[in-house]
Amino acid sequence: MSGRPDEFAWIETLRPLTRADGRALDLMDDAAVLAARPGFDLVISKDAMVEGVHFLQGEAPETIARRLLRASLSDLAAKTAEPFAYLLMTAWPADRDWAWRDAFVRGLAKDGERYAVALLGGDTVSTPGPLTLCATVLGWTPEGRAVLRSTARAGDAVVVCGAIGDGWLGLRAARGEISDFGGALAVRYRLPEPLFSLRQALRDHARAAVDVSDGLLADAEHIAAASGLGLSIDLARLPLSIEGATWLSAQDDEGAARLALATGGDDYAIVCAVDPADVGDFAAVVEAQGTPAAVVGAFDAESGLRVSMAGSPIKADRTGWRH
Ligand SMILES: [Mg+2]
Repeated sequence: MSGRPDEFAWIETLRPLTRADGRALDLMDDAAVLAARPGFDLVISKDAMVEGVHFLQGEAPETIARRLLRASLSDLAAKTAEPFAYLLMTAWPADRDWAWRDAFVRGLAKDGERYAVALLGGDTVSTPGPLTLCATVLGWTPEGRAVLRSTARAGDAVVVCGAIGDGWLGLRAARGEISDFGGALAVRYRLPEPLFSLRQALRDHARAAVDVSDGLLADAEHIAAASGLGLSIDLARLPLSIEGATWLSAQDDEGAARLALATGGDDYAIVCAVDPADVGDFAAVVEAQGTPAAVVGAFDAESGLRVSMAGSPIKADRTGWRH
């Protein structure tokens, strides 16, 4: 995009995304202005996506927009924050016309409504490179109550909420590499659902949590490393969707297949540390929300990650997506 008229037209297009939130100042000022909220902490997270790296080339613009927001919001869900706003950066290659951008904005409008988040500002530039997008999401948690990575204790159970492997299987299905059960897996890859439904359960029971974006093993290891702990994970205990379980049952090497599911990423499930005495209550509340929950291992004082399947050690040479 070049020239002022274009930039003003783009701001006009974006203005409905503020959802009449006064803090956006109609996208006419240099910045948004937010009043502090007494008794709450502001939780902020940023996610960037590059076409061909974080989403497939040729993906529908509406889907790209929604996936961008959802992936960012998933980080807030893991912190148990209540989202209210986002900032947006778009770097457009020359080949994106207005029809494409309008469809992109329709996707943002849809999920802005769904998650009650208002666009408060951002920036737009043109690029000689691939389409690059960045969303910064903002949410509130009651003061001092955000669930962090660094607060797991030795002996805590490693609990996964949400199916593992559907993100990776969904990407393969979207590429046409595996068959897709009426499209269920590709939809989960394209439009993951941030687990805000678990906010209260996590606040009540989780000592530490992260969302599973890089891959279960990598993300569980992030909690361990931040907490100064190690962990063991039993691949036999992964929570799987019906589609995931069906795919798995057709694989020759079950260990390798389970390892692929546990390292594939893009699941936007939540992995957390829970006091073993509390696991039963927690799992019951999570499952009552319709989300599968499973204890897949334990945090301990030994350093490093130990992976096994039903008692036999498995060599995990990669744990997830490396940036
Ligand atoms: Mg995350």
